Amino acid sequence: MNNPIDDLLQQLRQFRDERDWAQFHNPKDLALALSIEAAELNEVFLWKKPEDADPARVREELADVLLYAFQLADKYNWDIPQLMQEKLSINAAKYPADKARNSAAKYDKL
Ligand SMILES: [Mg+2]
Repeated sequence: MNNPIDDLLQQLRQFRDERDWAQFHNPKDLALALSIEAAELNEVFLWKKPEDADPARVREELADVLLYAFQLADKYNWDIPQLMQEKLSINAAKYPADKARNSAAKYDKL
């Protein structure tokens, strides 16, 4: 039995392959699409108080960002939970809780 991420990746590959879009899904264009979707997410909040942004639109654009992020990781055959855990470990080392607590400072300013 697959885990939810594997099931999702399988659906993404099927969606892509039914449309013959693998030819367009090189790492550069997946990264650009991810960035563009992140900009669309930002646009939902633009010129508004955070609480005035439409949650349905936030949800939709966040899903777009995540779908492209997952496709980019899949392009490199990277294990998504593993790469996220690796980066979380790096971030934990950069931002020790005792130094970073209650601070929004970048790690080199802690
Ligand atoms: Mg979008």
